[in-house]
Amino acid sequence: MSDIKKMYLDGQWVLSSSGETRTVVNPANGEIIATVTEGTADDVKTAVAAAKRAFYKDGWQDVTAGERAEYLFRLAAKIEENAEELALLEVRDNGKPLRETEYDVADTAACFKYYAGIATKPHGQTYDVPDKDMQTMVVREPIGVCGQIVPWNYPLLMAAWKMAPALAAGNTVVFKPSEITPLSAVRLFELMEETGFPKGVVNLVLGAGATVGNEIASNMDVDKIAFTGGTKTGRSIMAAATGNLKNISLELGGKSPNIVFADADFDTAIDYALFGIFCNQGQVCSAGSRLILQDTIYDQFLERLTERANQIVVGSGEDPDSEMGPMISEAHMEKVLSYIEIGKEEGATLLCGGYRLTENGLDKGYYIKPTIFKDVTPDMRIVKEEIFGPVLVVQKFSTEAEAIEIANDTVYGLAGGVFTVDGAKALRVIKKLRAGITWINSFNPTFNEAPWGGYKQSGIGRELGTFGFEEYTEVKQININLNPSPIGWFK
Ligand code: NDP
Repeated sequence: MSDIKKMYLDGQWVLSSSGETRTVVNPANGEIIATVTEGTADDVKTAVAAAKRAFYKDGWQDVTAGERAEYLFRLAAKIEENAEELALLEVRDNGKPLRETEYDVADTAACFKYYAGIATKPHGQTYDVPDKDMQTMVVREPIGVCGQIVPWNYPLLMAAWKMAPALAAGNTVVFKPSEITPLSAVRLFELMEETGFPKGVVNLVLGAGATVGNEIASNMDVDKIAFTGGTKTGRSIMAAATGNLKNISLELGGKSPNIVFADADFDTAIDYALFGIFCNQGQVCSAGSRLILQDTIYDQFLERLTERANQIVVGSGEDPDSEMGPMISEAHMEKVLSYIEIGKEEGATLLCGGYRLTENGLDKGYYIKPTIFKDVTPDMRIVKEEIFGPVLVVQKFSTEAEAIEIANDTVYGLAGGVFTVDGAKALRVIKKLRAGITWINSFNPTFNEAPWGGYKQSGIGRELGTFGFEEYTEVKQININLNPSPIGWFK
């Protein structure tokens, strides 16, 4: 029993009310690395009641911004002290290479520090209104109990993106990691307990999306729901949240375009095309999964890109030589492989990869060779749907207008990039892209300081930066009569 990882509800480490458990698998080799308690809807209700009490009765909403900042700074310091352990835990749970998880852990600490700083900065506004006796102002207040649900592709970092702004703004939290990757969240909550957050302010619920996640989204005492994950799940969360018309923010999928003009710096564009799609095994919401290539460099670019993709070293994230790890799970690997089959059946030409890797001891894990398709058409499923794996599709254009049209021909609008040495052209194209996050001569870098989120079916709202903080606040208008006297409206 003692080996079972517990949930953190109302300041206590507890087993699920059902007594059920779930095993956690290392995707690098299929080995069971932990057993976790499997939460239920009742456990969510316990967590929500605690978060509600902490916010409305126990005084968390009256804790000063400076004190909240102190909690977050202390937590960031603890993450930094335990960085090595957290990075290795994340490799074993998620599969990504150690150099990536080291970066994720550093970014996690930086995110808590950034929002610790934001907590104490000015947030309101004052207005000069037509009535000279009236001073009008706006203050920002916490929303209350925030339900937060995250996926498996950046388990620890997504926890920071969600909880840091929520806590900085003075909310309480009920947090659910993915059932596939709960381990870094459990460790993070241990550090939160050491940090000394009051009982009920931060709550960790483990378990499945369909039960635990759905209860968080539908619970009438949850004031806000924030979610990162697939667009289909986002839709069901939005529907579940209608009962009490929760404040909602969604960060969903993408099929992001990466446009390369013939005048781009060739080696830079090649490097970022690879980074855009193969970083984190392609399991990135903002992945540059559609390469949109100018016709005059098409063959030359693809020859070099294929050569480089074939050189990517795929292996266990714990092996320092690995540049790409396994897919998150067997089921997800099967999903990605099925998309590769769909691509072949649709008539696309496979340039490289397209299969599971099993040689050299990889047979127990869920590895896929970096894959590139050319000769695709806009109606193909591999062009339209988010694959969420190391699969790149290449589209060809000749004019700037055509590049923009192809780039925007998607139901998604999360991210996009353009490579060219012509600054005016780059900005013209970026301004036409219907996407929330864009890069010029770069792809994928993310900053705590700048807003993250999408247009169209890629989501609602923004995370990170001051925009992300504001998503966790209500706006209150205050009107102060400077010269109180009877209004005399009624005789
Ligand atoms: P999901 O969107 O299903 O999962 C993300 C989180 O939502 C998990 O914590 C999950 O719980 C939870 N969840 C699932 N169903 C519900 C529900 N009905 N109500 C509330 N919460 C729920 O991602 P998947 O892992 O299933 O991946 C499916 C696809 O989504 C991927 O192939 C990819 O295309 C996309 N995706 C996009 C991501 C992004 O960052 N934009 C991230 C992950 C996936 P649990 O998993 O524990 O059951």
